[in-house]
Amino acid sequence: MNFQSVRGMRDQVPEAARRWSHVETGFKQVLASFSYEEIRLPLLESTALFSRSVGENTDIVQKEMYSLRDRDGESITLRPEGTAGCVRAGLQQGLLFNQVQRFWYAGPMFRYERPQKGRYRQFEQIGAEAFGMAGADLDAELLQLCADAFQRLGVADHLTLELNTLGTAASRQAYRDALVAYLEPRQAQLDEDSQRRLARNPLRILDSKDEGTQDLLAEAPGLEDFLDDESKAHFDDLLTLLEQLDIGYRVNTRLVRGLDYYTHTVFEWVTDALGAQGTVCAGGRYDGLVEQLGGRPSPAAGFALGVDRLVLLHEVVFPDWQSPAVDAYCVVLGPAQRAWAMALCQRLRLDLPALKLRLHNGGGKLKNQLRRADQSGAVCALLIGEDEVNDNRVTLKWLLSAQSQERLDYETLRERLRGINR
Ligand code: ATP
Ligand code: MG
Repeated sequence: MNFQSVRGMRDQVPEAARRWSHVETGFKQVLASFSYEEIRLPLLESTALFSRSVGENTDIVQKEMYSLRDRDGESITLRPEGTAGCVRAGLQQGLLFNQVQRFWYAGPMFRYERPQKGRYRQFEQIGAEAFGMAGADLDAELLQLCADAFQRLGVADHLTLELNTLGTAASRQAYRDALVAYLEPRQAQLDEDSQRRLARNPLRILDSKDEGTQDLLAEAPGLEDFLDDESKAHFDDLLTLLEQLDIGYRVNTRLVRGLDYYTHTVFEWVTDALGAQGTVCAGGRYDGLVEQLGGRPSPAAGFALGVDRLVLLHEVVFPDWQSPAVDAYCVVLGPAQRAWAMALCQRLRLDLPALKLRLHNGGGKLKNQLRRADQSGAVCALLIGEDEVNDNRVTLKWLLSAQSQERLDYETLRERLRGINR
């Protein structure tokens, strides 16, 4: 029998996993440098948490969740996103009331979607969520953080920031009513998905890809006309800060997020390098969510980065990027030298924790072992035979350059290896 992975679930073989880890580590370093703290959360939550927070009428809750009955009959769901669980944990652990918090988390999310490039059923997000800060300076900080991370990873030139404001809950509601009043008499001209959304989640119609729907929307009332003073002031403040920070953006008044809990700022970082799945990171402000989940009101804002898509973008920008698995390859000429070689390698690993040192396993001829060393991508081989052991020295052979080989004592060898820089 030939087993295959479940549809929409991907393996990351070591070569791909190295790039993945490079991208993920780079982003996490920036989160740490903005003093965001890691919070580790369960993959399973009660189903009601998501219908309550993400919203009964969203695509996620309507058709994308992996829900199952626990053995005692409780309905639980593999998390489709991280914000709900993060707020749930913050409330349960007493971290939100009257406090300022900056959290991040990373890990797999699960949605039953049609798999295609950039869209999978298990995918990874890095999320950041900040609580207790109502001002636009927090929105700007989140965007500065993303911009910084994209810069450090070398992909910033391929990403554009799109921004919009949904305003306060009140202005959002007023607009929603006006939009429904405009669309209801024209319902027949909407695409099928949008017709369904009209009753349930009308704002989502704004980002329909259907041309007929878009034509209809061109004449529709605009969200910008329904913003109250508070909504406008918040957005203007943010735009000014972004200009002062020299963070480029494009206001897109059609941008709405699929999740129900957003207020004020919503944003997406988009690229045209990945085809249809161009949104790499999405987020915004969700001042109403903490209260909606039973807490005392607390302003909040955050984003979720789609790591799969960021890695795909990194592949497009740096097709030749490589990170070798092995720096130094230790060749052992005979069984009598195995223990000596293992002890030597162990000493080197303790002294040089970053060195990737592979010890040849299983013996064999010098020539064959050296071929393995070449294949491993190592920059050098350490040769250990009878002479080396008797002499208490190691022969160092460079594999990528024509430097002649040398027989070195431990300290000199260690310093040579310390100098490997890649
Ligand atoms: P989309 O419009 O592409 O379906 P979304 O609005 O459902 O995205 P969010 O819930 O905001 O996405 O999730 C944040 C980010 O997570 C997205 O911008 C994207 O980068 C990533 N993401 C969402 N769903 C998937 C998926 N099925 N596969 C891979 N990445 C995903
Ligand atoms: Mg989606």
